[in-house]
Amino acid sequence: MAETQNPFEQAQKQFDRGAELLGLPQEVCTMLRWPLREFRFQIPVRMDDGHTEVYFGFRVQHSDARGPAKGGIRFHPNETLDTVRALAMWMTWKCAVADIPLGGGKGGVVINPASLSVTEKERLCRGWVDQMWKNIGPRMDVPAPDVGTTPQMMAWMMDEFTKLQGQYTPGVFTGKPVDMGGSLGRTEATGYGVIYTVREAMKHLGIDPQKAVAAIQGFGNVAQYAAIGFVDMLGGKVACVSCYDLPDKKPYTYSHPDGVDPHFLLTITDQYGTIDKAKAKAAGYIVEDETAWITKEADVLIPAALEGMVNKDTVKNIHPRVKLIAEGANGPTTLEADEVIKQRNIFTIPDFLCNAGGVTTSYFESVQNDMNYYWGREEVLQRLDQKMTKAFHDVLEMSLQRKVYMRDAAYLVAIDKVVRSMRLRGWV
Ligand code: NAD
Repeated sequence: MAETQNPFEQAQKQFDRGAELLGLPQEVCTMLRWPLREFRFQIPVRMDDGHTEVYFGFRVQHSDARGPAKGGIRFHPNETLDTVRALAMWMTWKCAVADIPLGGGKGGVVINPASLSVTEKERLCRGWVDQMWKNIGPRMDVPAPDVGTTPQMMAWMMDEFTKLQGQYTPGVFTGKPVDMGGSLGRTEATGYGVIYTVREAMKHLGIDPQKAVAAIQGFGNVAQYAAIGFVDMLGGKVACVSCYDLPDKKPYTYSHPDGVDPHFLLTITDQYGTIDKAKAKAAGYIVEDETAWITKEADVLIPAALEGMVNKDTVKNIHPRVKLIAEGANGPTTLEADEVIKQRNIFTIPDFLCNAGGVTTSYFESVQNDMNYYWGREEVLQRLDQKMTKAFHDVLEMSLQRKVYMRDAAYLVAIDKVVRSMRLRGWV
């Protein structure tokens, strides 16, 4: 986020606020302000030309009070231990608010994966597992893909773990390809999950979905399925979507007088979520600059691109008609902008509730791996709907009971659940 330097300090501050509202004792705060376990290691990788490069890797297990740690592995050149710590803590709250029996973890490697060949990537993935295999597993810590990592990489990692264990263990990683133990429905899970919570929020606010208009930022995995869900499931209209245009190196907003057709736009969008501008224009789409999405006359705003996009500069452009913000992205709203949104009384579905559909379906993947029996897509999505709907109402109830903002209510629900497990286990 633009207004803070260190993501871990920010995560700690957010926790402190929740801890204060809950009146938590010192020893509980100490345990949860810091990760339970941290691993920092070197991964030597033999490169294709024969020389060896050494990469730095991390795994942080913030909490396993409610079950095995859960969270992605990022391959990113700017990865630091503090980013990984913050993300691991946020995973603890996300799993708790979604009420899945998992804790929070995150991992990373300081690397730009685009700089590696396919075989070098495979050796790096296997090297990560060689360092961590004794401390991960379906009953300990279950990593998944994230920024810079892919389902194929999870398949290599699962294979390496299986070799070292001497036992086929698909449930050690989630986000695997569907042909290798992955779950159907994972691709659409996060975007559809956003829409399940939007549907419930609209019921609460008395907004008729058939007359509702949404403005969406982004057109990647989350935004695509949020747009499809808003149109197909709710019968609403999507005023615009946006994307970062890779050839022009700048973002654009795409709108259409009749509402955008997400199915059509998908046919002219590449794997990175970039819409073909010329084809969109030819189909009657209006192409505007990056900030136009937030100015649209809409009932619902769905930031589903990057962190920090609703900030002190853009928040003032939110149209007076907007009654609901559904945070599809992680951390899309800066602290300053959040204050403005609160004052304007716009109902917010906070990120770790709104976008929990992805991790919930990852949990379903490990459940199916354990059973060695696989559900159909409809069954996965139906179970996802039940989980997201329940999670939304738990947070709404807390918000109404304690008369607090939805983001604070989500922290209260999540922290309280983790602390209850810690107490039951006799830790504190
Ligand atoms: P993605 O890479 O598939 O898509 C990102 C989209 O945002 C692309 O369309 C890109 O062009 C667009 N974009 C980038 N910069 C932009 C800008 N400045 N203005 C407008 N558009 C811009 O990513 P994703 O998987 O859809 O993830 C989006 C967000 O949701 C991230 O914050 C991610 O951490 C979060 N998230 C994703 C998942 C998941 O399952 N994919 C789960 C939870 C949270």
